[in-house]
Amino acid sequence: MPESKQQTLYGWGHAPLAECRTWRPEKQRELAHFINQEGPVLARGLGRSYGDSSLQPNGVILTERLNHLIDFDSNRGMVRVQAGVTLKELMDITIPRGWIPAAIPGTCHVTLGGAFACNVHGKNQYREGDFAEHVQSIRLLLPSGESVDCSTTHNREIFWTTAGGMGMTGIIEELTLKLKPISSSSLSSTTYSVETLEDMVGAFEEYRDSSDYMVGWIDHMARGEDIGRGIFEAATHIDTESGGAPLSAYKPQKKGLNVPFFLPSFVLNRYSMAIYNKLRFRKYSAWRKTETSGFGQFFHPLDRIGNWNRLYGKRGFFQYQCMFPDSPDVVAQMLTFLSALHSKNLFSFLAVIKYHRRSKGLLTFSQAGYSIALDFPNTARVQAVLPQLNRWVADNGGRVYLAKDAILSAEHFRIMYGKAATDWESVINQIDPNAKFTSLMSDRLEWKRRE
Ligand SMILES: Cc1cc2nc3c(=O)[nH]c(=O)nc-3n(C[C@H](O)[C@H](O)[C@H](O)COP(=O)(O)OP(=O)(O)OC[C@H]3O[C@@H](n4cnc5c(N)ncnc54)[C@H](O)[C@@H]3O)c2cc1C
Repeated sequence: MPESKQQTLYGWGHAPLAECRTWRPEKQRELAHFINQEGPVLARGLGRSYGDSSLQPNGVILTERLNHLIDFDSNRGMVRVQAGVTLKELMDITIPRGWIPAAIPGTCHVTLGGAFACNVHGKNQYREGDFAEHVQSIRLLLPSGESVDCSTTHNREIFWTTAGGMGMTGIIEELTLKLKPISSSSLSSTTYSVETLEDMVGAFEEYRDSSDYMVGWIDHMARGEDIGRGIFEAATHIDTESGGAPLSAYKPQKKGLNVPFFLPSFVLNRYSMAIYNKLRFRKYSAWRKTETSGFGQFFHPLDRIGNWNRLYGKRGFFQYQCMFPDSPDVVAQMLTFLSALHSKNLFSFLAVIKYHRRSKGLLTFSQAGYSIALDFPNTARVQAVLPQLNRWVADNGGRVYLAKDAILSAEHFRIMYGKAATDWESVINQIDPNAKFTSLMSDRLEWKRRE
């Protein structure tokens, strides 16, 4: 049994912080010991979820050393890994051999266990669905101490309860993934500016049948008639004959700049961000610029800056991602609602819009429609206003993404996730009747019954 350590842990948003007892097992077989610990425990990957979903003061099992590649069939694109393998480690091995994960989130520094537990999505969610749809099977250590293999055909209910299940069913030990074939390490991307949200939605509709990936960036500091303006980007895999770089030319992404310490929180403020947003908006025109992009540049531009979350200062920030089924109108209303908050000095520093299709899984974020992700600095004002935003989102049929959340209430969670929440809670409570696996998030959202 590894020695425990006391550590201050936090998610990527640096809010909240928690003093946690931690273990860093070296061997998969050590995992079973944690079930016998006094009190609740929780698995953690790289802590890239933003809020409190990977925090458990009584005991956090750090899975990062459980990162072995077990098997890779490069003819079929099937790979079996331990759950602590990161997306970056996986991509660096499989891309030169012609295979890429089908669902890639905006950072490659996540474990595959964490990606499954959050059922993450990429800029191609509308086409490929979420991460779990490309996982053939998992091996899960249940709270009972038994290890079970689960897939979409065997122990199906446990599989879909664990996908997006935020660590509540036990510890994912291994995963088998089906990858997507590629013939070069480049994408052809088209980028241009749009003046209104209507134009942004029009761009998503125009490109959705012809493009592998789509994303929009909205200038959230814009006011009045400019609300909703932004930059749209669509991209598609290309082969070498169309100018793509050969697979052998793929270079693992390296960090460029690093933010060495937490900057004072006044550095990012409404004025500096208004200038940044204006410059970014002006970088592109309505003319559709098509260029060849490398994978790192397209999938993970932020990863080039190490510890960029420190730009927000020690108090940290909240990323708020919500989605509305089939209703761009509600996104427009939400932007107007948010712009009204500018007068209360509440600004999001970033606004990213994505298009989704309905997801599989019991507790799933994606529905057919648009999601919008916003970054708010952690201030008392923001903490007071975000519950109002949650109420507004709940009343308008939307839901927030748990992988980013730190402030949702149990009441709003139940309104947003409805019957899916009730069904999922009933299964996690059958799998874990003694509430062995809990987190600060599960306590906040009142997921587990305690006798
Ligand atoms: C810059 C940035 C961009 C992002 N972009 C996207 C995006 O585009 N799309 C998207 O969907 N998400 C995105 N995310 C969120 C991120 O992809 C997810 O939160 C991801 O799951 C984090 O993985 P992790 O290994 O760090 O997990 P952690 O944050 O450590 O844990 C997250 C949850 O998974 C559980 N967990 C972790 N490992 C295991 C395991 N082995 N067994 C059981 N449960 C486990 C934890 O208990 C916790 O509940 C982004 C995050 C960042 C920082």
